[in-house]
Amino acid sequence: MTFEENASGAASAHRREQAVRAAVEHGLIGAAEPVVGLLDVAGIRQSATRLRAAFEEITPPGTPVLHAFAVKAAPLVPVLRLLAAEGLGCEVASPGELAQSRAAGVPAERILLDSPAKTPAELRTALELGIALNADNPRELDRIDALVAAGQPASRVGVRVNPQLGGGTIGAMSTATATSKFGVALQDEGAREWVVRAFLDRPWLTRLHAHVGSQGMPLELMAAGVRETYGLAEEINAAAGRRQIDTLDIGGGLPVNFDSDEFTPSYRQYARLLRSEVPGAFDGRYGIVTEFGRSLLAKNGLTLARVEYAKSAGGRPIAVTHAGAQLATRTVFAPASWPIRVVAYDAEGRPKSGPAVAQDVAGPCCFAGDLVARDRPLPRLDEGDLVALLDTGAYYFSNHFAYNSLPRPAVHGFVTAPTGSGGVRFGLVRSTQTVDEIVAESGGGQRNALSELR
Ligand SMILES: *Cc1c(COP(=O)(O)O)cnc(C)c1O
Repeated sequence: MTFEENASGAASAHRREQAVRAAVEHGLIGAAEPVVGLLDVAGIRQSATRLRAAFEEITPPGTPVLHAFAVKAAPLVPVLRLLAAEGLGCEVASPGELAQSRAAGVPAERILLDSPAKTPAELRTALELGIALNADNPRELDRIDALVAAGQPASRVGVRVNPQLGGGTIGAMSTATATSKFGVALQDEGAREWVVRAFLDRPWLTRLHAHVGSQGMPLELMAAGVRETYGLAEEINAAAGRRQIDTLDIGGGLPVNFDSDEFTPSYRQYARLLRSEVPGAFDGRYGIVTEFGRSLLAKNGLTLARVEYAKSAGGRPIAVTHAGAQLATRTVFAPASWPIRVVAYDAEGRPKSGPAVAQDVAGPCCFAGDLVARDRPLPRLDEGDLVALLDTGAYYFSNHFAYNSLPRPAVHGFVTAPTGSGGVRFGLVRSTQTVDEIVAESGGGQRNALSELR
């Protein structure tokens, strides 16, 4: 880790402390609003800048590089807009994510569609809008063929491959296993030959895509995935006798450090590894697309929740808070794979001190396993205190799970003034889901639909 990365972790933690305090002062969290998501705008900008700089460093000037943010990591329109202003695009996997990207004003040429289950209508829309897409399997390519035969121009279409290199530490996040559902499994018998033929038969196919996994993948395995993809692209271009494949989409998946404030591994570290492992992919002959999600947002967001009750059971202190499975879904259901840091604050948003006491930090959901931390040493939490769930800017408060009809929490972005001057400004990203909205979304407008169905 470089000094710069270390220092930025400390600066990020400092901004977070200011924001927690200010969130209480501004009434964004309290008895009436017991849980809220916060996003560090400066941190997000800095992560985007670092990502761009890392790939600029390893590619010759003028190499086309598109960093498409994996929208599923934080499907919030103002976030997509902020990233777009930093030069990023969007990687989408559903009509909803596509619409969110367009609502953010992201131009079609910076959007990329990657779902494994694209319908004919979605494929048509993508081609019509000029959105890049990666075909997942031979049947999908048949469907694209039919659209092309009907006169639909296909620009920026690629094929997703699975190099079947194996998994990382989290099975559910490993997309390059032998039997993964994603892409064309390259090592299956006849598959590689099929891919080469598919390109030779379709002069409009110009891209190759692999995303070998998310959280839990060693960088070396990610780089090996890029090496396989590059090797196949070279083989196809040699067979075609021209540079038919002009762009390599290397996916996302940079793991995030959930243990401390340090932004490690860094984009720079990964990019340098890529350049040393697969120099040919980054020598300017290929355009590059990346699809990072978690690494851009996770450490730039936190969830703040109020302790409603402090109790104890069987000698174990338990803080019952308003942040549980509805927003820390993976942490609650797979705690060994997704541990998160929890920090204790008093009701004013000041870091809580005092001796560490092993306690459970529970959520509001009605099942016993709804715990975001078990037996965790923390200053003893009391009613009215706050807990911060750190590094939850991606795949947490933005990916709601509607258990117990708990509302989606509000999300606010913040910027801090230079140290000393003290001010923190907030911008509302999304307001709390209201009870009326919950009723409406659960069929409130058609309450007789079943009772009067004869
Ligand atoms: C989820 C996903 C990503 C983003 O992964 P992160 O781990 O959030 O960087 C990128 N590409 C594809 C195809 C994905 O499914």
